[in-house]
Amino acid sequence: MELTNDPKKADVVIINTCAIREKADQKAFSSLGRLKHLKFRKPKMILGVGGCVAQLYGERLIENFPHLDLVFGTRTITLLPELISQVEREKRRMVETSFDIEEVFEFEPYHEEGKVTAFVSVQQGCNKMCSYCIVPLVKGKETNRSVEDILAETQKLVQKGVREITLIGQTVNSWKMAGYKFGDLLKIMAEIEGLFRIRFTTSYPRDVTKKLIDAIRDVPKVCHHIHLPVQSGSNRILTEMGRTYTREWYMDILKRIRDAIPEMAITTDIIVGFPGETEDDFNDTMSLLKQAEFDGTFSFKFSPRPGTPASEFSDMVSDQVSSRRLMELQAFQSEITVKKNQSIVGHIEEVLIEGESKNDPSWVTGRTSQNRVVNFPGTTDLRGKLERVIITEGFQNSLRGRLLENEMEVSHVS
Ligand code: SAH
Repeated sequence: MELTNDPKKADVVIINTCAIREKADQKAFSSLGRLKHLKFRKPKMILGVGGCVAQLYGERLIENFPHLDLVFGTRTITLLPELISQVEREKRRMVETSFDIEEVFEFEPYHEEGKVTAFVSVQQGCNKMCSYCIVPLVKGKETNRSVEDILAETQKLVQKGVREITLIGQTVNSWKMAGYKFGDLLKIMAEIEGLFRIRFTTSYPRDVTKKLIDAIRDVPKVCHHIHLPVQSGSNRILTEMGRTYTREWYMDILKRIRDAIPEMAITTDIIVGFPGETEDDFNDTMSLLKQAEFDGTFSFKFSPRPGTPASEFSDMVSDQVSSRRLMELQAFQSEITVKKNQSIVGHIEEVLIEGESKNDPSWVTGRTSQNRVVNFPGTTDLRGKLERVIITEGFQNSLRGRLLENEMEVSHVS
């Protein structure tokens, strides 16, 4: 098969889906709805849906969408080639969402040519039991990938020109395999020649160990950014969420990280309007944001997900209240983020150049070790290079800078 961006030309169309919040469900359904006409005009085209929404609703999707040919799950994605030929051969609609698949990493991920960054999945599923979260239900138990497989995939990507790898897993820092812990994996990865940078996401606060902090500090290829979801600043709500730590414990981890690596960027996720969240609970979250001074925050209104304990909790918070809290929180975090981005003006940052800038083809874009986006005048032959850039302006979502041309200029500036 060959890839096309045009569904009209495709013999097979697969929709990949997310079920984390209700809005994501809705997106999947409307994508499916939109493809109805295409399938009508091209009856031979195979239309499939995979991922978490497919895992969650399975058979029901086939019943509700008569133009759908194939439903596969989060683990049966490895069977996709076989499933497609079966649909073609047997001319029947199929649902295959079982969980009894041993090897979930056994497929070649797609990589866009010329792209400098790539993700490598090191873990599937999740063993935590957050009361609001659908992930364990749709992705199953935590399964970790072997060091050999992770290295082999990374090496292939590096040969294709990739310079930065982000290791991904639901609670990536709980990865362990054959006596190795996640900090060891970072060190092993750093041995790969031609690989410049290593990132990882998402980290679970309780699994941040001294070994991990030491590895981030001591291994130069490991970037100085950690995404560490806190979810709430209220201990009562944290307990209801099943997060297994207190606000004080979380703040202590931040301190330990920052004591070891002062320039570390820390970002987080927050849920507002969790069942039973009072104005006091929300104010605790706001005060945590103030205290923690995150470099960025992803925040969401609580969304009840089928099958999760929290979807059956009493005291649901109204949408009106949740929306107001979300806006307040985002406005407050914006101020902190802008302030932080402006405080970097005048600093020299190492930037991995990813390609042309979105708005101006005579500019290039890249990111600092702290994962801040930097735009500066330059040509695309810089793609894939690590360069020193002096930061000249700081905004909400990005920085602006100027490439330092030579060592003289570097010593002059610093
Ligand atoms: N462990 C995952 C988390 C994915 S979900 C990871 O790899 O990143 C990302 C964020 O969505 C969570 O941290 C949480 O803040 C939010 N989220 C999860 N379930 C939610 C729900 N039911 N309603 C609202 N937000 C939710």
